[in-house]
Amino acid sequence: MSMSLDEDASTYGSNDGQGILNSLPGLVWTTDETGALCYANSRFTEFTGLMIDQGGSRQWASYLHPDDHLLVVPAQKGGAQLFAARLRRRDGQFEWFNLSASPMKGFGGEVCWLATERLERIDNQFGNADRDFRSFLDSLSLQALLLTPSLELEFGNQAALRWYGLSPGAQVQDRSVHFNLSKLKEIAFHSQAGQGRNDSAVVSYQALSADGTLRWLEAQVVQIRMQNGELAGYCVLQTDVQDSRDSSHLLGQEMEILEMVARGAPSASVLQRLCDVVADLVPDLVCGFLELSLDRKLFRMGAATRLAGEFREIFDGRSVISDKNPCSTAALTKRTVEIANMVESDQRETSMGEIMLANGLNYCKAIPILSPYGNTAGILAILRHQQADLGPREQQIVDRAKHIAAISIDRTRHEEALVRRETQVEQSQAQLVAAQRISSTGSFTSDIQRDENIWSEEFYRIFDLDPKLEPSIDAVRERVHPEDLDLFDFEMKRGFAGEDADFVFRIIRTDGTLRFIRGLARVTHYIGDHPVFMGTVQDITETRRAEDALRRGEEALAKAREELAYVSRVMTISALTTSIAHEVSQPLSGILANANACVRLLALDPPNIASATDTARRTIRDTMRATEVIKRLRAMFSRQSPPMEKIDLNEIAREVIALSARDMREKFIVLEARLAPELPPVTGDRIQLQQVILNMVLNGIEAMAETEERPRRLLVRTALVSEDILTLSISDAGVGIAADAADKMFEPFFTTKRDGMGIGLSISRSIVENHGGRMWAMSNDGPGATFAFSLPSLGKPTDRSAT
Ligand code: ADP
Repeated sequence: MSMSLDEDASTYGSNDGQGILNSLPGLVWTTDETGALCYANSRFTEFTGLMIDQGGSRQWASYLHPDDHLLVVPAQKGGAQLFAARLRRRDGQFEWFNLSASPMKGFGGEVCWLATERLERIDNQFGNADRDFRSFLDSLSLQALLLTPSLELEFGNQAALRWYGLSPGAQVQDRSVHFNLSKLKEIAFHSQAGQGRNDSAVVSYQALSADGTLRWLEAQVVQIRMQNGELAGYCVLQTDVQDSRDSSHLLGQEMEILEMVARGAPSASVLQRLCDVVADLVPDLVCGFLELSLDRKLFRMGAATRLAGEFREIFDGRSVISDKNPCSTAALTKRTVEIANMVESDQRETSMGEIMLANGLNYCKAIPILSPYGNTAGILAILRHQQADLGPREQQIVDRAKHIAAISIDRTRHEEALVRRETQVEQSQAQLVAAQRISSTGSFTSDIQRDENIWSEEFYRIFDLDPKLEPSIDAVRERVHPEDLDLFDFEMKRGFAGEDADFVFRIIRTDGTLRFIRGLARVTHYIGDHPVFMGTVQDITETRRAEDALRRGEEALAKAREELAYVSRVMTISALTTSIAHEVSQPLSGILANANACVRLLALDPPNIASATDTARRTIRDTMRATEVIKRLRAMFSRQSPPMEKIDLNEIAREVIALSARDMREKFIVLEARLAPELPPVTGDRIQLQQVILNMVLNGIEAMAETEERPRRLLVRTALVSEDILTLSISDAGVGIAADAADKMFEPFFTTKRDGMGIGLSISRSIVENHGGRMWAMSNDGPGATFAFSLPSLGKPTDRSAT
């Protein structure tokens, strides 16, 4: 089809229907399938200046704004299509139009275009001409709003209405109440001030969503301006960012709170932060954290979003079992307790119930906070005005808060326990130091092989070493008295081999004073094959001095006793000897003189028989007298009936042993006493019986004088052999009893010793017999002899101590 320009007409092209088209309100033109103009009405040519712009393109699209080219492509089939696009005015400016393209035949074209100028149709508002734009917005999943310049809601797309919970038919006024547009107004003000064209801004604000909760939205606000630059309104494209905001917020907060926990912040402040986060994310929830004491018997206030004072009052320091409120029940049962309606609950009278109702909170949930070890560490109480299940988002928030609370409470409890333990350790450490000081005892741990040592304060002090000195065996060795170095080295060598030690050595301190040290070490464990010792060093100088003094005193006492005993023995013997000598020498010299005279008389020639007979008679008389003297002497010993004194045989045996202790020590004799416990007493003369025992002991000692090849052992035994007979025996390991001596030993003046008197045993036997007892001797199974005596008892025990 050829194109021609009708120069007289204000229209481009010509057709029969031209008049109809010309009468249409707007710019009308038709195009062929290539988009070339076939017909244009006068409004079109006037607007675009087609008449003037003779050289202008015949392609209608050359009058279209370049940015709108892609949008405005009519479909080949189907009904009318709507577009919003800008057309170029003759002066080169663009104006917005609503275009409709209808496929058609006739007017020489394939498509008939009708452009209604936007300005005319929207009446300063968006008007009905935007229907296609709105339907476009409706198709978006994004929430889209159109607002008037005064920020009244003009239009909301499907997605937006759904979000606000509005029906598509609802009145604009009804809808407006749901919008919080203050932030938008702020933005609008700034934009207006700038008078910028096509200004857009991103803005966040909260609005009440369909479920009645305030949710955060993020929106792009685009200013819509009219051709003349006047503000036509705003297009708001908004997205619900609550969830992502929540999770990133929660995550950020969670990170911060966990950092607090890691830094060791007290649980109270961590719980407070958790409360803040919950309050921020779920504003209509009252939540409170209660901690439980380690023994789970007491509540401790943690934190609360609201009502913290009330919570503190009813829970802080209170017993878990004081009240049957939901928190107590949850703490005791480790189960979540839910009260849907406090007003009707039997717990309405509890302290918690009263506080809830006083604050218009009717719903409550007490959730046990379990420590990572499964113990109840605390309670999370959630209070609401009325029962409402926690949504997934709220549930997530509560769960995470609970989780962090558990970690924090647990951590705090462990720290508290640790502090308590540390304090205890510090106290006992202080006590140890004091005790070491008082007892002059230092302690050490030592791996001798590696020379790795730990010394206590007192250790350093005892050895007079600089507390800063690195512990080493050499440092101690330097202080050791030169005479004790061998001993010290020997003990260290043994320690090296893992043997325990207990020895006393001397040290010389820097001021030259000498101290006695007792070192004690035990292997406590092995590191590899190294023995590790723990031990003590004690400065025993003072104790040692006291002991020395005591020993010296005891020794002096013992010596005095022995000397006394010796003197008494010697005196007894010498007195006896003198007495015997005196008593017997007279008759003996008489006998001698008479016997001499008798010999002389018989040697006469003739022998003087009568005188000799006479002297012989005198000799007999004197001999009888001498015998009489001996008899009298014996009678003198036996005559004395012993004083009836109660005697404990063990006791007098011990006294005798004590008297001869030094003698025995000097002669390397080991004494063993096996004294029967609970011996009944005997009656008699204590001194005499002691003399008997002493004589037996001395004989035993003397019998072992030459014993070299076996231990010189003296065994003193007492026993109750029958109901009323006690025995005392002394066994030695000495020369033993010769076969020919056995019979004679108890006879007076029998002795096998060079300077012996031979009367001890005879006197002893007579003393024993005088006490109603018996005395005897026997050879041992092995070497040596046993001398023993028996005495009748009184039948009542006197000695309760076993020896
Ligand atoms: P003395 O001790 O002066 O000899 P005693 O009458 O005490 O007088 O002892 C008589 C003798 O009995 C001793 O010389 C000794 O031969 C013998 N005798 C006494 N006790 C023992 C004994 N324990 N072991 C061996 N022989 C002993």
